Amino acid sequence: MSKLNDLSPYEQFLRDTFHADDAGLQRLQSEAEKAGLPAISIGPEQGKFLQVLVQLTGARKVLEIGCLGGYSGAWIARALPAGGKLISLELEEKHAAFTRKQWASLGLADKAEVRVGPALESLPGLADEAPFDLIFIDADKNNYPAYLEWALRYSRPGTVILGDNVSMGGRLADPDRQENPGIRGMRGFAEAMAGDARLVSTVVPYADGIAMAVVK
Ligand code: SAH
Ligand code: MG
Repeated sequence: MSKLNDLSPYEQFLRDTFHADDAGLQRLQSEAEKAGLPAISIGPEQGKFLQVLVQLTGARKVLEIGCLGGYSGAWIARALPAGGKLISLELEEKHAAFTRKQWASLGLADKAEVRVGPALESLPGLADEAPFDLIFIDADKNNYPAYLEWALRYSRPGTVILGDNVSMGGRLADPDRQENPGIRGMRGFAEAMAGDARLVSTVVPYADGIAMAVVK
């Protein structure tokens, strides 16, 4: 988060005016830090962006891959209508347990559910819940190409598919880093998304870059 919080005066104005965390989200983030969760969540600009997208698409069913402490999930779940549902996949039981507690105290327990396990093992079990209206990919980068395939399988025309951390902390196009599995995964994901005739896609340069596609 340190880079996320190193803002110019203009960026600080935008954050204060449009994107500020409320007390509940601030508490989630400070408790995540105390619990020793890695500080790798999205920032408030992206959280608000996800909310705008949920509203814009009228999403009722959202899938997240990579939950961590439930910060991005809280932004998403808060924007869902009554009866809407977020399913978030998470590898680490510790992260999932932290998230369940946070979502309950934010009043989101009926709207947001975390499922534990490697996402590639959880995804085949979600067929009955598909199609999703919005899918946010934010887990292990080497598996992003496979997550995109699952996202497409679980989509309908109009579904929005998002992938966080396209820039990989500025290393995506570093010629010395191209053999890194995470960089390879992210490049493969970006190229597959951009080249897929079923999608219209772009990258929104908030924070570490968020790829965004809509299914035609
Ligand atoms: N979306 C969260 C941040 C997610 S960080 C937010 O912005 O608030 C990435 C998360 O993906 C971590 O919690 C990590 O444990 C999880 N993860 C890593 N590999 C995974 C896998 N194979 N399946 C599911 N989750 C995984
Ligand atoms: Mg991320």
